[in-house]
Parts: sequence; structure tokens; C-alpha cells
Amino acid sequence: MELHQRTAHELGDLLANKELSSAELTASVLARVAEVEEQVSSYITLTPELAMEQARAVDQARADGKELGPLAGIPMGIKDNMSTTGTQTTCASSILKGYKPVYDATVVSRLRDAGGVFIGKTNLDEFAFGSSTENSAFGASKNPWDTERVPGGSSGGSAACVAAGEAVIAVGSDTGGSIRQPASLCGVVGVKPTYGRVSRYGLVAFASSLDQIGPLARDVKDAAIMMNAICGPDEMDNTCLPNSVPDMAADLTGDISGMKIGIVKELTSEGLEAGVEESFNNAVKVFEDAGAVCEVVSLPSVKYSLPVYYLIASSEASSNLSRFDAVRYGVRAEKYENILEMYTNSRGEGFGAETKRRVMLGTYALSAGYYDAYYGKALKVRTLIRRDFDAAFTKYDALISPTSPCVAFKMGEKTEDPLQMYLSDVCTVPANLAGLPAVSLPCGLSEGMPVGLQVIAPALEESRMLKIADAFERRFEGIGVPTVAEGV
Ligand code: GLN
Repeated sequence: MELHQRTAHELGDLLANKELSSAELTASVLARVAEVEEQVSSYITLTPELAMEQARAVDQARADGKELGPLAGIPMGIKDNMSTTGTQTTCASSILKGYKPVYDATVVSRLRDAGGVFIGKTNLDEFAFGSSTENSAFGASKNPWDTERVPGGSSGGSAACVAAGEAVIAVGSDTGGSIRQPASLCGVVGVKPTYGRVSRYGLVAFASSLDQIGPLARDVKDAAIMMNAICGPDEMDNTCLPNSVPDMAADLTGDISGMKIGIVKELTSEGLEAGVEESFNNAVKVFEDAGAVCEVVSLPSVKYSLPVYYLIASSEASSNLSRFDAVRYGVRAEKYENILEMYTNSRGEGFGAETKRRVMLGTYALSAGYYDAYYGKALKVRTLIRRDFDAAFTKYDALISPTSPCVAFKMGEKTEDPLQMYLSDVCTVPANLAGLPAVSLPCGLSEGMPVGLQVIAPALEESRMLKIADAFERRFEGIGVPTVAEGV
């Protein structure tokens, strides 16, 4: 197998045994980027000099006999909504073009400390609003399995770079599915941790009661290794949980016999593409063959998740985005007569169409006279959704569904119809609303494109969730590698 298709844990072993240096590995990943980036467009900003410098530093530390963690020397991609000192952080928005943060997000500093090698900042939908990366002000990323199709979003660049061999592993953010849906569409593993498990300090806020950072990886074990590196308390984010973090890679034994798995009725009974349904049904058989008990369970309020999500997420986004006033950050309009015009012209020119749509929707939902009917009501239904999950977890160890009702769609297919785009989040948003951890992993192909399986666990039970996902992965024949990864 080629170097660029290997997992972080395999490469980590080669590095630890000094069969490979990080400089060699990084050079090979950069060569791969040079080969395929024009077709895939995973990155907004590439940082090859930084990457080589970090790789050499890890090699030197190893030569000096220093104790190094499993991610030391591993090339990775970082979603461009996480602050990186001295490296442009755009959120794929024109308004932040050229903005260089003066501090690192906690996740970024943890990855620097772990010896991560930063290949670049990956593409996304502007401010993470979207499901395809087509809302990026820097052009869309492409799906490595078929470059006429979208990679999903909003962490489409992070998913595409891992699938195409342009990074070994990546981090993304997930507010309503933005790690899991692109992972599903690109055939990689994506984890949204429990709300509060990972610090959001330095992550440009989209919807603060929903946002979480998590890994995109080539297998479950790699995702667990990345979770170990990024999870855990952080005094810089007061929504970050104080709980200690178990070694999430330690318990991947493959043994799930006797576990009870609920199939979420509301996410499986209608609206799925035939190929997605077939792969999902096969996945259920794999679990049963592994000795798990699978039953259909109804979570009645889950059917309201999509409207609830779009009200809450847009409301929080409209408030969070008020900081982009062209005073403290970003690009300022050239023409204005007074301060108000400066704001409106800068925001009018700097924000794309979807961002404006969210700001308008959110401002409306929060406005006097409408607040109770929209935002207030959405919060109440969110509580009902949470309670449905609580009730289900008294009976089941985990819940499953497909990650996305459809495989990767063609570029442009849903851009004219925002509602169609929003509908592709139907399976992922419930876990965000309930604050639960969820993982997507490949479970089949349909029309030659990857299908994703979602496993949702109770809060803070990422280890159990990853154990179930790994048990599936061990028994599943896999989906192979995308066309772009086969080599051009
Ligand atoms: N696709 C969803 C949205 O557009 C989720 C985005 C996200 O998780 N960042 O809001």
C-alpha cells in the first residue's frame, strides 16, 4: 500500500521504529498534494515550510531520545475556522481574507504539542454554513471518489484531504453534522464528540450551544488517537467539561456481543436513497453477526430536529457574526460615508449569500414579538428531543442510523434550493441538539460512492461508541480507495 493511503497508527509505528522519518513522510504527502490538489481543492492555505520544519523538529526529538506521542510527525489538515498563530484563518469568507490570528485555538496548540505536522488549512462552507463546501468564498472542494460531486460539508476539505491522501488525518467542526456528513460522503471516519468534550477556544463560533471539534480519519483507531490528543478540560472555554478522558484507543477489542443497539425509526423509515438503505440494512446484519441485539426504537420528537436545528443554529449564528464589523477584523469596504454605511457595506460585500440568509433568519427568529414563537419554541422542542434520547439510552447501549440519506450529490445540484441542502442534515442534527457523541464510518458503496453508518452514544461514552464502530469496521470488508487516491 502506498504511503499516502496508510493510517496514522501504521505510520506512527514506522516512525517510532525509525523505518521512516517524518521529513520523508511529510515530503511524500506534500508531493501527493502537488499531484492531486488541483483536482480536489481540499485546502485554502498550504503551509509546506511550516510542515517540513515541524517534521524535522520531530525527527530531531526522536533522535534525541525524547518520549513522543502517537501523532508525532503525522501530517494533518486543520479546518480553516480554527485559529492558527501567524497562518491565515479565513472561515472560507471574503471578510476574513488575510486575517492572521495572534493565538492558537486550544486544539491547534494541543496538536502542535503532540508533534503534529500542519499541511494546511482546509476548505469549508463559509463560517461552516452548509453541507457541500459550495458556500466557500474560495471555491468548492471536490469529492475524491468523483470530482464532479461534492465532498459534503461543511468540513468538506478536511474529509477530502484525508480521502485523497493529502493528509493522514484532519480536524473539523460539527454543529449539525459538519464532520460526520462529509466523512460519510468521502468514505472516511468522522467523530463529533460529546458537547463540551473538546475545547472550542479559538474555534470561530457558529452556534455556541452546538459546536464541537473532532477528528476525520482513515479508521476508527486513528480517530480514537486524535480524540485522545484533543479532548479534555480547558480553562479557556467554560463550556468545556471537567471530566477526565479515558484512553479511547485502549478498548477497541472488537467484542460487542450482548450489546443492545437501537435502530432509530425516525431516521430510517423514509426518505433514504435505495443504495443507502441497502448498505445500512447490511450493517445491521454485521452487528447481529457480532452478537449484538438490534431493535427498532422510536424517538418521536426527533422528527422535529431539522426545523429546531435551523432556528437555533441560525439564531446563535446571527448573534455570533455580529463581531465581524470590519473594525476588529477583516476586510473593510472601500466606499462609505459614515460608520453605519461602513458596517453595512463591509458586511454586504464580505458575506456570501448563505451567510446573509442565516443572519436574516436568525435575527428574525430572535426579534421581539417572534422570539417566543420561534427561538423559544425551538428550545422547548430541543428538550423533548433530549428526553427521547435519554429514554432510549435506558434500554440501548447505542443508537444507529445512516449518516446521510443520500450519497455525494453532483456539484450545483442543491445550491439553488437551500431547503434541499438543509434536508441532507436530517440524520446528523439530532445528536448535536442532544449534545451526544456520534461517529460516522463507511458501511458500503452506492453508485460507486461511499455510504456512512452513524453510531450515537450517551454523553461521555465515546469509548463505547468507538468500540462499537471498530467492531463493525473489523468485520466489514471495506470500500477500497477513491479514484483520486488510486493515483493519477
Ligand atoms: N449542514 C449544517 C448547516 O448547514 C451543519 C453545518 C455544521 O455542522 N457546521 O448548518
